[in-house]
Amino acid sequence: MTTVDLLAIAAHRDDVELTCSGTLIKAAKQGYKTAIIDFTQGEMGSRGSAAIRAAEASKAAEIMGVQARENLNLPDAGIVNDLATRELVARAIRRFKPRIVIAPAREGRHPDHHTTAQLVRDACFVAGLAKYAADLPKHRPKKLIHCLSFREDFGKPTFVVDITEEFETKMKAIRCYDSQFSGAIQAGEVLPNGEPLYDIVRHQSAHYGSLIRCQYGEPFHTLETMRVDDIVALEVSSF
Ligand SMILES: [Zn+2]
Repeated sequence: MTTVDLLAIAAHRDDVELTCSGTLIKAAKQGYKTAIIDFTQGEMGSRGSAAIRAAEASKAAEIMGVQARENLNLPDAGIVNDLATRELVARAIRRFKPRIVIAPAREGRHPDHHTTAQLVRDACFVAGLAKYAADLPKHRPKKLIHCLSFREDFGKPTFVVDITEEFETKMKAIRCYDSQFSGAIQAGEVLPNGEPLYDIVRHQSAHYGSLIRCQYGEPFHTLETMRVDDIVALEVSSF
């Protein structure tokens, strides 16, 4: 079993591509091991089929350079944060042993997204309890961060990752989902504004980039306050 540094967990195939794929691509380039867990097969999606989405997801995984991509087969549009599901997720976290976990935003239009955010948080916690599901060794990730792409309406990002160098690869990963996105003007949390989806992603990413004075970025939220060690080296110009 692959252990990784960074594990992205999302409700649906394509969520990771839309919200944090640039960050995963960048981490892989930096030499970190990355992986993805998708909770559902996308059987409720109005376009494409679960089988088509599976093929699209593995093609995208290859482009993002992840070590592994698992699907937990939870019900699409029916994810619940109950004891059985939490254990399933905690076991997956213990297998991958990530230092950092990326989860969806804590707010969102799709109930699967905000349920997943809390479910992942709870699963990370119980995964660190020695006597819980004791047949697997305990592992609690060091840190949980939430994607904020397309959900900036409820709070400012804690930080933005510069994905300028990785942006075109991110778009390539997103374009793997042609069965859903070709001609689409909306997906998941992405609110329709009349533009094709690929253009919305580009413009939103440019907006997030502008927050840290770079071309393209991906925003994240953490409940914890971020620490600074060198006050004089602080980045992001005020003027
Ligand atoms: Zn989704």
